[in-house]
Amino acid sequence: MPEIPDLEGYRAYFNKRLPGLRVVSAEAPIAWIVRAGREEFLERMQGQVFRPVERKAKLLLFPFAPQGGCAGGNGDYVVVHAMLAGRYQYVEPGARRPRMLCWLLALDNGLQLRYFDERRMGRAYLVRAEEFAEKVPRWTEMGPDVMDPELTEDRFVGIMLRQRGMIKNALTNERVIAGIGNAYADEVLWEARLHPFRKRTDIPEDGLRELCRAIRRVMEWATPIVTQLMEEKGLPTKMYRDHLRVHARSDAACPRDGHRISAITSGGRETNFCRECQA
Ligand SMILES: [Zn+2]
Repeated sequence: MPEIPDLEGYRAYFNKRLPGLRVVSAEAPIAWIVRAGREEFLERMQGQVFRPVERKAKLLLFPFAPQGGCAGGNGDYVVVHAMLAGRYQYVEPGARRPRMLCWLLALDNGLQLRYFDERRMGRAYLVRAEEFAEKVPRWTEMGPDVMDPELTEDRFVGIMLRQRGMIKNALTNERVIAGIGNAYADEVLWEARLHPFRKRTDIPEDGLRELCRAIRRVMEWATPIVTQLMEEKGLPTKMYRDHLRVHARSDAACPRDGHRISAITSGGRETNFCRECQA
């Protein structure tokens, strides 16, 4: 699943290319992925001009200016939740169409922005700014984005102090804090030297403060790596994860102490950590 560094990579990639481009036409071969419905999507997207792409939690937001490109106008957004398998292409129209192509936008520079989804779990919402709460599911229930500057260390600690249960579950629960998934949760907990199954109530406030700093350090470390990979190797079909230190590294050596990385699978997701340096 794309997580913050991946989505920030997309954002940087698209912002180098899309702003100012106009949508000439749209297609929606798998129309139900687009929650507006095919007719409305095709009609409403035509003539829209891309503004800079934004991210909130695991959502990528494509804002548009009304035809003519008035900046900052109260235009439409395409809000994409890619879930596990939603991917993008930015290609020539003749490029081979991927299986499970859900929607595409043909642009006035001759290229196409395409979204495909092998599992068809992702969704795209066509909404106006004032309609987010009403039309984007769970928008209002989401906790603060972990990279939101308004999420101060004190506020983070305050939120965490209200949680019970295991720390990894709190980190990956978007109703608590938003944007961290299974892979980067493992990285963050390794960075903070916290055992993923440790109960939040057993972690002193100092540990929670360090956890907050570890989140920012990991995201700020990984985002430029992923951004550069997308520039060099192109938009991924499988997320770029070779730089990770513990996630999906079971039996490899912990980069900190050489101890073997452990793997525990529960609820269909694997958790990786080091028993030596994470307590
Ligand atoms: Zn270790």
